[in-house]
Amino acid sequence: MNAHDSEKVVGTLVNEGYAQVATPEEAGLVLYNTCSIRDKAEQKVFNRLQNFKRAGKGKIFGVLGCVAQQEGEKIFERAPHVSLVAGSANYHQLGQMLVQLEMGNRRVTGLSFENAEAFDTPFTRRDNPHRAFLTIIEGCDKSCAYCVVPFTRGPERSRTSDSVMAEARGLVEKGYTEVQLLGQNVNSYRDPSPAGWDFAVLLSRVAEIPGMRRVRYTTSHPRDFVRPIVDAMDANTVICDHIHLPVQSGSSRVLAAMDRLYTREEYMRRIEWIKNAKRRYSLTTDIIVGFPGETDADFQQTLDLLDEVQYDSLFSFKYSPRPNTAALHMEDRIPEEEKSRRLAIVQEKQRAIQIRRNADLVGTIQEVLVEGRNTALNQWVGHTTCHRTLNFSHTAGDERDLAGTYLSVRVNRAGPNSLVGETATVV
Ligand code: SAM
Ligand code: SF4
Repeated sequence: MNAHDSEKVVGTLVNEGYAQVATPEEAGLVLYNTCSIRDKAEQKVFNRLQNFKRAGKGKIFGVLGCVAQQEGEKIFERAPHVSLVAGSANYHQLGQMLVQLEMGNRRVTGLSFENAEAFDTPFTRRDNPHRAFLTIIEGCDKSCAYCVVPFTRGPERSRTSDSVMAEARGLVEKGYTEVQLLGQNVNSYRDPSPAGWDFAVLLSRVAEIPGMRRVRYTTSHPRDFVRPIVDAMDANTVICDHIHLPVQSGSSRVLAAMDRLYTREEYMRRIEWIKNAKRRYSLTTDIIVGFPGETDADFQQTLDLLDEVQYDSLFSFKYSPRPNTAALHMEDRIPEEEKSRRLAIVQEKQRAIQIRRNADLVGTIQEVLVEGRNTALNQWVGHTTCHRTLNFSHTAGDERDLAGTYLSVRVNRAGPNSLVGETATVV
């Protein structure tokens, strides 16, 4: 989401007459987009701001994103060379803020959630020419006890279905064939216009746009992941064979402490819908280890859940205390070394699962959207609808640029994180 926010900010400013340059050194205005989901993000940001300062006198510096929202005007105190601080709920006013700076204002801020609206801009400058991100909902109304997002991105704001559809059609016209619908919790999408579409309807309609080849979405919240979403996926193969359904923990006790609003059993019911669906879907998840009070038995339940579900991939994190969150003052903190131990166990178990899951694909033919070429290996790289990276060799002597095309590729080998193959049909 942050990467896509940057694409929107760049596009909006370019439309207003600014020009993008490759490095901070060349820039007159440096906007630093930040994330504060884990770790000591704030400290890293201040260190980097210090480096920026050394890199240039006379430049205007601004801090955007979650650290901007979280630290607010404190940033001016710790980094006096910064002139602008704005959170994502205020990006639609960024142009006006820059005008204020040009008019001589020393410092401007955009930190309010009061008039928060979706940053609905037609001027996004996308980095990838074939796959596009498309925001459908911003902010989050959940209050997971560990998570800073509701404090940094504000309340949920869904875009109108008309606006989403217009952007999606525009993307196809520009030649994009794969679109990823984005939001902290896409499942709670509610069209604010009278049409009143829910997420399943929006997903279907985007996938029905003529010329659209692939539609993905992220992220789902299990509480709001309803049956009609699986039905919509089953009904249209343009919607990719992949579902990212973050579980966080396999223990209902920990899930309750996290305020995730579902039990292990309720989560598993959703996995059952997916496994009994008409198509085979690749399943991925997020896991947090070492949440306050997580016992060995709770942790074991997470490991058991990995065995039961057999995810195709996962992101795993050590619990990291975040400002303002409910978990910050919870007792029974897990020592750092124990969190590291649990993380290593999760990752080792998942690696073995992934080796098996990927090995199942050896011998199959997968359609890939080609991303580019690894000249050193003389291989092309693309990704499958089921979210695998596939490196492949292509017919000798064919020197065409294949990037952006779809090819059928035979999988010959599999590792834990990617597949290797060769084109199955000559285009
Ligand atoms: N909205 C999404 C969701 O509900 O899953 C994504 C939220 S966050 C950007 C992505 C992942 O970061 C979460 O699923 C969670 O596993 C992890 N995460 C968030 N806060 C964390 C924290 N304080 N410590 C460790 N991991 C965290
Ligand atoms: Fe954070 Fe929970 Fe919202 Fe995801 S659903 S952004 S984890 S509060």
